[in-house]
Amino acid sequence: MEDYPRTVLEFEDRFASEQSCWEYLAALRWPEGFVCPRCHESGGWLASRGRWVCQHCRHQASVTAGTVFQDTHKPLRLWFRAIWHVTSQKTGASAVSLQQVLGLGSYLTAWTWLHKLRRAMVRPGRDRLQGAVEVDETIVGGESAEHFGRNLGEKSLVVIAAEKKGAATGRIRLALIPQATREALHQFIRQSIEPGSLVHTDGLPAYRELEGFGYKHQVSVLLGKGPDAAIRLLPRVHRVASLLKRWLLGTHQGAISAKHLPYYLDEFTFRFNRRTSRTRGKLFYRLLQQAVQVSPQTYERLIANHNIQ
Ligand SMILES: [Zn+2]
Repeated sequence: MEDYPRTVLEFEDRFASEQSCWEYLAALRWPEGFVCPRCHESGGWLASRGRWVCQHCRHQASVTAGTVFQDTHKPLRLWFRAIWHVTSQKTGASAVSLQQVLGLGSYLTAWTWLHKLRRAMVRPGRDRLQGAVEVDETIVGGESAEHFGRNLGEKSLVVIAAEKKGAATGRIRLALIPQATREALHQFIRQSIEPGSLVHTDGLPAYRELEGFGYKHQVSVLLGKGPDAAIRLLPRVHRVASLLKRWLLGTHQGAISAKHLPYYLDEFTFRFNRRTSRTRGKLFYRLLQQAVQVSPQTYERLIANHNIQ
């Protein structure tokens, strides 16, 4: 059963102690119950400082080992509040706002936490998109955010896939690519879309020969069809592109380097694909659930170069 707080009061009552946070994490981590990694028996109890003790061999397993929260020196209560803050707002949180809300001493801590949580926004082994899917590229960055008088930094090329659900948009996938080459676009499509799907693109030659990978390919030639042809013929990806740009300029004031852009694309995708969730508590639950599944990221690894997704 999916068990999560519905309101901020439920949240505050429920996670008032470290013990309650450990218990919640343990339940997410071992949904079928704890199984000892040493003796493979089940059962045990939660001891102090988030250690689960095997009732058979007394082996101790840390609830946070191998998760986003591994080796944290801060209380889990604070992490839970960070996740609530990030998921309870429709547009997400900037490092500045997180630092202020949690009373964190350093901006860098807030920034690092947000990036660790963004890593958890991509579910390991997630499904690929299916059915009819629009694919197109867009340029992000380079334009100035007049309201803030800042630049979005260097220009980046982002490829977008958006499922067609009748007139509406289903799920999306995004990736930063170096150039709109056949190699990069085909790789993205194969990683993001289930073979057998109908891939709808413009006439860019780099999209050709998708049939060889088991896709059906619908091509809309834009040339000579007017300046807004892309928006008319591939409306979903262009709607997603404009929402993405607005979000980067709004919540994050455009202050994002290309090196970190993939993390922001992950967060945008997480939010977009759950935009119809009835309660924000469900997003809190999903993000925590994924945070115990992804491997820990050190600050050094977070700032190291990103591979293309
Ligand atoms: Zn054991």
